[in-house]
Amino acid sequence: MKNRERDKRDWEMLQEEIRSCRLCQERFGFEPNPIVWGSADSKIMQISQAPSKRVHETRIPFNDLSGQKLRREWYEITDEQFYDVRNFYIVSVGHCYPGKNASGGDRMPPALCARTWLDREIRLVNNEIYLLVGGAAAKFFFPTRSFTGLVFENLELRGKPAYVLPHPSPLNIKWFRDNPDFLAYRLKEIRQIIHQTLNLPE
Ligand code: SF4
Repeated sequence: MKNRERDKRDWEMLQEEIRSCRLCQERFGFEPNPIVWGSADSKIMQISQAPSKRVHETRIPFNDLSGQKLRREWYEITDEQFYDVRNFYIVSVGHCYPGKNASGGDRMPPALCARTWLDREIRLVNNEIYLLVGGAAAKFFFPTRSFTGLVFENLELRGKPAYVLPHPSPLNIKWFRDNPDFLAYRLKEIRQIIHQTLNLPE
């Protein structure tokens, strides 16, 4: 119990450190805006790639069409349940919107972010399961595995169950076309695990 109290205090200090991080200011060319959402006792740690520009501006993670699809259509939970910090710890391998690349897409998150912060968050948050959303998060934890293989497997990460989801972005059309089993049955299995973890009625 004492260790848990100490971890919670360490986690609170860590949140302050992350929020004030400006390590990538020069690389981005604008002031970073680290996004942190959750509590030390969130039941589910959801890890994705990096915040979008809209999230950078609003400071609310998954506050876009992909986020609506993820929580309302895939998880089948309300916005209130998704943003309840007792339920979800929402984080990314890059905590800040990284700006655009030369082709107009979002840059990849800087590798130093996960190395600097994510490992410490994983150690201090007392979650029950992990959800890894998209290729960047899956690759960070399982660098030698094929993404599609990971989606269809029940995994373990740091001794806890982990599940990989494709990014819900509409730009991901080809992957969904090539892998119809995801929407046909795998998503239902993962949704059931999410509902069980959140103690939602079946
Ligand atoms: S991306 Fe990560 S390391 Fe870079 S400024 Fe944001 S919080 Fe700091």
